Amino acid sequence: MSATEDCLFCRLVAGQIPATVVTETDTTLAFRDISPAAPTHVLVIPKQHFENMAEIVTRQPQVMSDVMATAIEVVQRESLEEQGYRLVANTGEGGGQTVYHAHLHVLGGRGLGWPPG
Ligand code: AMP
Ligand code: ZN
Repeated sequence: MSATEDCLFCRLVAGQIPATVVTETDTTLAFRDISPAAPTHVLVIPKQHFENMAEIVTRQPQVMSDVMATAIEVVQRESLEEQGYRLVANTGEGGGQTVYHAHLHVLGGRGLGWPPG
């Protein structure tokens, strides 16, 4: 899928869908998940459309670095370092991906079981 009105997160970046923004940079946006799975559940996305993390790394590795840096900024803003947190990139159908615009979940604020379901 290309960066079109068909992509939920491209629409969110364009301001066509509301979001609770936590922080943003020129290349990334961090916003609260609409269906939180933990007290802190923030999604970090590249503003540019990529299907998944592998596509970012292949095509624009600097943007992957930007996504990680924004995720760590969210961790600091939400004071998650001491208790610990999890960064998750569900990828493909078997990996639980439902939105095909690359995103990193930042989860924290409760004990997180392992292995995940
Ligand atoms: P994944 O299943 O890894 O593709 O994650 C997609 C995530 O997007 C899910 O956790 C959804 O709850 C979340 N989500 C879907 N629509 C929205 C939205 N409009 N605003 C914020 N989060 C959303
Ligand atoms: Zn998109």
